[in-house]
Amino acid sequence: MRILIAADMEGVSGVVHWDHVDSQHKEYARFRKLMTGDVNAAIEGAYEGGAEEVIVADGHGNARNILVEELDPRARLNSGSPSPFAMVQGVDTGVDAAMFVGYHARVGSTHAILDHTWSSMCVANVWLNGKPAGEIGWNAAVCGHFGVPVIMISGDQTACAEAVELLGEVQTAVVKQARGRMSAECLPPELSRHKIREAAARAVRGLRAGQAPQALRLEAPIQVTLELVTSDMADRAALLPGATRLEGKRVEITVEDAATAYRAFRSAVALARP
Ligand SMILES: [Zn+2]
Repeated sequence: MRILIAADMEGVSGVVHWDHVDSQHKEYARFRKLMTGDVNAAIEGAYEGGAEEVIVADGHGNARNILVEELDPRARLNSGSPSPFAMVQGVDTGVDAAMFVGYHARVGSTHAILDHTWSSMCVANVWLNGKPAGEIGWNAAVCGHFGVPVIMISGDQTACAEAVELLGEVQTAVVKQARGRMSAECLPPELSRHKIREAAARAVRGLRAGQAPQALRLEAPIQVTLELVTSDMADRAALLPGATRLEGKRVEITVEDAATAYRAFRSAVALARP
């Protein structure tokens, strides 16, 4: 049983502000350590539940956040960017299930720490086949393309609820109660790691018992609709071959499958960036 742990940073224990997740800020050193701690808790839980191999994907920013020297030695780390599958790098290597650790709610959510989708600077909204998709939705769709179900998530209460709504009976570890975009009641890491470990163990046990949620399969062809923050960003995103300009700030592209949709979305956002 191989498990992919896909880690982001905004939903990590204690994180409530951009300063905490910005590698240029002096607070960042504390929070990358906390991120590593949340990931280690998930690794421990996965093995406790019966996993035989765990690979980790560092999915925040430049993907150089997790402290490899502090990583549980049973795991392997995908680090650095760009990589072919970004936040779920390793998903194509024959994993049985994925866990999302430190995840956050999609752009425009209420009571959600640092809610955004891919780029808070560029992305005003994004839809997959007409349905709003945050990073949970995008990465679950890429996992689903490879037949991989998402079985566990940690983050604030809103991120966890978003995952349950989209994926069904996924195991959740709520590590903070968001009261706003930059305010939350946070559990001390000792407690949040305990919750993460337990949720990860339950998830793998459920998977082995044949009770895991289904992999998320999107109906092909897949329509990606992207609303940028400003119209000049849309001017640039619309240069992507195959893209259609809708109104001022929206572009749309239709592709064959979720893995290609992810590439198109990442490319459009990369073009849009000022
Ligand atoms: Zn993110």
